[in-house]
Amino acid sequence: MHYVSSIFILIDQNHVNLTQFNLKIADLEIFSSKLLQAAVDEFTRLPGIGRKTALRLVLHLLRQKPEAVENFSGSISKLRNEVIYCNRCNNISDQELCTICASHARDTSTICVVEDIRDIIAIENTGQFSGLYHVLGGIISPMEGIGPNDLNISSLLERANSPDVKEIVFALCTTMEGDTTNYYLFKKLKHLEIKLSVIARGISIGDELEYADEVTLGRSIINRTPYEHSISR
Ligand SMILES: [Zn+2]
Repeated sequence: MHYVSSIFILIDQNHVNLTQFNLKIADLEIFSSKLLQAAVDEFTRLPGIGRKTALRLVLHLLRQKPEAVENFSGSISKLRNEVIYCNRCNNISDQELCTICASHARDTSTICVVEDIRDIIAIENTGQFSGLYHVLGGIISPMEGIGPNDLNISSLLERANSPDVKEIVFALCTTMEGDTTNYYLFKKLKHLEIKLSVIARGISIGDELEYADEVTLGRSIINRTPYEHSISR
């Protein structure tokens, strides 16, 4: 095992040299087992997981009892096969309506638009927002080929037409893509008699919502400003 780890360190450090010899890390037959190789390959497909971390995780799983590994893989495939998305807001849910949409304690007149469910979790943790959410499932990014039709925008427009809705809060990340998406939504919604607001820029430009601390994010929601003010600056 030590030998394998050493090779990984060597490969990482000498990646440039290796490429000169037209060798690709993935092509190297350095594993003693194809099963091990396959498992490491699967882990490296996950975001943020390099080959060294993948190997460490696989070896960790190998040291566990078979039932523990069964539970691990079973919960992931069950999640993938059985998870459903809320009919109304696209939050991950076990029912047709997520617990937030189904709750009678929520303020149904306000919808907070977020990129993905990590943002719902971050905002819920602040305890400063009692309205409903709408998960876009991404943001407009021409560089990555993501256009408005790839996102849950038409369902947002439908919801915005409900007489219950009085305000829509844009709570997207403060990047150029976030701004583009805010502007697109503003143009689609501005003819409606509802307040369109954007979370205050207590969050630095370029920040992802999920990394903002709870107090800052909570304040940004409380101090949200009319969207039109944000584009006239
Ligand atoms: Zn929902």
